[in-house]
Amino acid sequence: MTENERKDETGWNFDNSYARLPESLYSSLPPTPVRAPKLTILNERLAASLGLSSEALRSDDGVAVLAGNRVPEGAEPLAQAYAGHQFGYFTMLGDGRALLLGEQITPQGERVDIQLKGSGRTPYSRGGDGRAALGPMLREYIISEAMFALGIPTTRSLAVVSTGQAVVRETDLPGAVLTRVAASHLRVGTFQYAARFGTIEDLRALADYTLQRHYPDALTENNRYLVLLREVIGRQASLIAKWMLVGFVHGVMNTDNMALSGETIDYGPCAFMDAYDPATVFSSIDRQGRYAYGNQPSIAAWNLARFSETLLPLLHDDQEQAIKQAEAEIANFFVLYQRQWLAGMRAKLGLTGEEPEDESLIEELLGLMQKYGADYTNTFRALTLDRTEASDLFDSEEFARWQERWQARLGGGPEAKDAARQLMNRSNPAVIPRNHRVEEALAAAVDDGDLTVMERLLAALSNPYAYSPDQDEYCTLSQSSRPYRTFCGT
Ligand code: AMP
Ligand code: MG
Repeated sequence: MTENERKDETGWNFDNSYARLPESLYSSLPPTPVRAPKLTILNERLAASLGLSSEALRSDDGVAVLAGNRVPEGAEPLAQAYAGHQFGYFTMLGDGRALLLGEQITPQGERVDIQLKGSGRTPYSRGGDGRAALGPMLREYIISEAMFALGIPTTRSLAVVSTGQAVVRETDLPGAVLTRVAASHLRVGTFQYAARFGTIEDLRALADYTLQRHYPDALTENNRYLVLLREVIGRQASLIAKWMLVGFVHGVMNTDNMALSGETIDYGPCAFMDAYDPATVFSSIDRQGRYAYGNQPSIAAWNLARFSETLLPLLHDDQEQAIKQAEAEIANFFVLYQRQWLAGMRAKLGLTGEEPEDESLIEELLGLMQKYGADYTNTFRALTLDRTEASDLFDSEEFARWQERWQARLGGGPEAKDAARQLMNRSNPAVIPRNHRVEEALAAAVDDGDLTVMERLLAALSNPYAYSPDQDEYCTLSQSSRPYRTFCGT
């Protein structure tokens, strides 16, 4: 078979615009081959939408590409340079265990990054081995696909391939490579790198590239870099509001883990909150709670302020003017965020129109959920189903009074009630990736090589607003009284 036939068979259709950026922004190198690649899971629907043949991807040649053992025709693999604030401290980073294969141009003409994560060492690996373990890669697969189904902008997972090689962590773990699909991997940290270590030309090239890729309408604007800042802020405000509305805790909102496309990126120690509590933290390394659920909006604003600082030389010749402009945009983050969050919360309670008392109605419910330790997702699910369950929250006097207030606000006859119900149905997921369910699926896959548990979980998560009876078993809470913990650097 010739190389060309092979290419046509799979459907790879690469362009490599990132490789045309200034050389300081990346390092070109191929992935490091692995010993015995085996396909663990393939996202066939995603493959189809990218114009890729699942059959060809499942073949030896296809799996070799997904493992990093063969570079497909047209790809120019590279590791991206970036820096970032990790838990508040500035560091040089970069793709230490990932490579951008190239940008797949889809049949719809969209351009998406195809990235191998766990593909071996790069010039940015520092002390790391450049590898990833199977469990965390499958975890990223589950959570990112769940986020997509929830309607939240996110990178996606095309495949996970096990490598047949162990990675050494606290114990030896089976290694794996994840193929990640993203609108791009441009991060706040990419700009921090260019601003700190590059020339002003590098920075400008990067900013124009970002505009071209994500905000092309702004290219003709007068101050296009100010528009870039504004648009990135707008997308982040929208994204963080969506996280908060479903109880998602990213867990490691370092500036290198904030994508300029507005997608959720880098699923490490993330998890969904069970009982409502703004102080919820899952990550074992986040001892101060910097990235707690309730801190996410202010951390996003902090990260965006770091982003705005990188743009100052492009915003205005006069630095003071530039700072003024940037500050005004950052201040607007909270306005945008609050507007989106409030609109989303109104929808979760089936409220149409806007009344001045809505905010206090919402805050009161959240306060009661916190006081009584009520599960966040299941409380809204129960309200949606008009089904009060036996629980401390629902049994309380305060809740009964709140419910009267809520019903009065909903008002209207049967038609309005029906419309409210439908709105709530669309706005409150019946299922989220419950931590114990995710762990159960990973244990079966990693310890027993049994993917069926994960596949059933993925099926339940693929339509979180369906409220179908077969989803019920995924709504139950963990019986464990131990707090759930997640681990980074795996
Ligand atoms: P993360 O916590 O996944 O956002 O990663 C932070 C930084 O550490 C990035 O520069 C990663 O590329 C790098 N990194 C994480 N794990 C490894 C590893 N096993 N080998 C090399 N670099 C790594
Ligand atoms: Mg990262």
